[in-house]
Amino acid sequence: MDLYSGYINRLIGELSLLPGIGYKTAQRLAFHMINMPKESVKKLADSMVEAREKVKYCKCCYTLTDNDLCPICSDNARDHKQIMVVENTRDMNAYEKTGRYNGVYHVLHGAINPSLGTGPNDIKLKELIERLEREVDEVIIATNSSIEGETTAMYISKLIKPTGVKVTRIASGVPVGGELEYIDEVTLSRALDARVEL
Ligand code: ZN
Repeated sequence: MDLYSGYINRLIGELSLLPGIGYKTAQRLAFHMINMPKESVKKLADSMVEAREKVKYCKCCYTLTDNDLCPICSDNARDHKQIMVVENTRDMNAYEKTGRYNGVYHVLHGAINPSLGTGPNDIKLKELIERLEREVDEVIIATNSSIEGETTAMYISKLIKPTGVKVTRIASGVPVGGELEYIDEVTLSRALDARVEL
């Protein structure tokens, strides 16, 4: 016997599919939503649909953006010959917050992870190599220091080295297994300054 209405059950079901949300949290959120003013629920739903429909990949660095080119790629004051490779848009934001980096980025949207079946073709790697056809001085690999991040860094370095472009890896001031977005700005700046050539 279903204790709740079919609508509530469906809402709980959908919410519990989200990362980090178990059944209990989904239940709590669902009941919260039922008690919210109707306009607030509509705002929430609209913002989800709109974000999903309108946000797209930047044509150059593949970060998530509202326009064809993100604000960083369309900024002529940035050094477009220095490309920092990050796993996701959140990591890119973390580096931007340091205010110490004036190059551009490339967002992979993941890392190579054989146990999850994520191979080189499942992340934006081909797109990075294509960018090297234009003049590039340095590729800074700033993937996480997890096993997946390191595997990805090694893979990218092997791929780029034959092209003659300088490849560096951010220093390990970043704790092992640490996700970039949780690390403070000082540590990030240091890791960038102390990067080593691969
Ligand atoms: Zn961009």
